[in-house]
Amino acid sequence: MTATTPTPLIELGTKPSGIVPLKPPVDPATLRHKNFIDAPDWRRIPAYADVTEEQFLDHKWQSKKSITRPDKLLDALRSLVSEEFIRDATEGFQRAPMSLRVSPYMLSLIDWNDPYDDPLRIQFIPLASRLLPDHPKLGLDSLHERADAPVPGLTHRYPDKALFLPLDTCPVYCRFCTRSYAVGIDTEEVEKTHFRVDEARWKQAFEYIASRPELEDIVVSGGDAYNLRPEQITLILTTLLEMPNIQRIRVATKGPAVMPQKILTDDEWVDAVTRGVDLGRKLHKEVVLHTHFNNPNEITGITRDAMNRLFERGITIRNQSVLQRGVNDTPETMKLLVKRLGQIHVHPYYVYVHDLVQGVEDLRTTLETGLMLEKHVRGTTAGFNTPTFVVDAPGGGGKRDAHSYEFYDRETGISIYQAPSVKPGQRYIYFDPIDLLPPEGQARWADPSQHQVMIDDALSRVREPGRGRPD
Ligand SMILES: *Cc1c(COP(=O)(O)O)cnc(C)c1O
Ligand code: SF4
Repeated sequence: MTATTPTPLIELGTKPSGIVPLKPPVDPATLRHKNFIDAPDWRRIPAYADVTEEQFLDHKWQSKKSITRPDKLLDALRSLVSEEFIRDATEGFQRAPMSLRVSPYMLSLIDWNDPYDDPLRIQFIPLASRLLPDHPKLGLDSLHERADAPVPGLTHRYPDKALFLPLDTCPVYCRFCTRSYAVGIDTEEVEKTHFRVDEARWKQAFEYIASRPELEDIVVSGGDAYNLRPEQITLILTTLLEMPNIQRIRVATKGPAVMPQKILTDDEWVDAVTRGVDLGRKLHKEVVLHTHFNNPNEITGITRDAMNRLFERGITIRNQSVLQRGVNDTPETMKLLVKRLGQIHVHPYYVYVHDLVQGVEDLRTTLETGLMLEKHVRGTTAGFNTPTFVVDAPGGGGKRDAHSYEFYDRETGISIYQAPSVKPGQRYIYFDPIDLLPPEGQARWADPSQHQVMIDDALSRVREPGRGRPD
């Protein structure tokens, strides 16, 4: 017997008959998440005026032409932006503690008619005029990744999962990187701990993972797995998958957001990931990709083609965004991002309230903003496509549901979390950026003698677990 394809019950395009719609027709504007550009117009950038489509779609060209020196970047932009912008960015780079790397694709996605407010510019190019003083309570490695690291580059904080950092380079460098203590090239501002690709260090990390039966979930991050060679991906995945204790592996990369071309043209890399996923499936273990889109403008037709290629191979992709001022801090933008991720089969997993990171106070926003956004996002789409808004508790408490604070004072911007299954009995404090506090709160932070008073006051108002919240 041969299987026949049944004829679909309806013909698309015919008007429903005999149905009285309960809802009015939707405003086409609400379907904006489905309309995204096929590709950015790279030819608007003088340096790429003669670049062919074939070149632009080739990941090797994108990598080779990625810009790593501020003066080169500004040269490429000179005819597109004002002198004032160039001066502002030049000074921004002098003061910024991050390494620079931007791809031609990303530069083409930025709206150079509005460079001050473009969400991609904000993430990758610092402007001195926008920088704000760091919060007085900020410390480098605010998440204490190193304090929870039994082996350099392996953080074991939660009971059953660990974070493995096999390398310290990325296809781009983000201004706001939480791991700015480790990734990239040294700058004058930050002395870094390096996690070079080093198989002796990897071996130590693997030996530790294999020796801990409670570990079942490994996050392979970095740096960024985009920069691992195919054979390194295979080595990492097969080594971990062989361990009887390991059930789940996530490979983290910002690549799809900043250079989707690689998924379409680097067959060896995509095949190595696919083989890892397939081997995992055979062993009844999960291997997935985690990526990092922050703004709906980062999703183009190239992204869609790239994600469809992974989707066809049965590869699950989840997204972790960082909540950033001017990038995704309005309900409209956050909802558009979430809905657009749904169009490319990427599951929104987390939105992080911005960590306390050096030199990017202008990017952080308040916990209150995160709570407000969550309320708006929930209900717009499938629950499994609705991200959880989390605060990665400074000091090593791990990720907490943003709403689960024990105490939150919107005037001082101090919120307190507990993590009973991670570090019982400890309290973790998050601080909103001072410039967004009401004037009374700003005045108290302007007076150093008030700092500890505010913190002690907040701590004293945390009740015992299970007794409700006092705010
Ligand atoms: C984020 C993170 C994980 C993974 O946490 P999930 O909440 O499962 O995504 C594991 N280890 C460390 C140190 C982390 O920071
Ligand atoms: S790609 Fe990820 S690890 Fe690399 S700089 Fe950006 S945020 Fe940091």
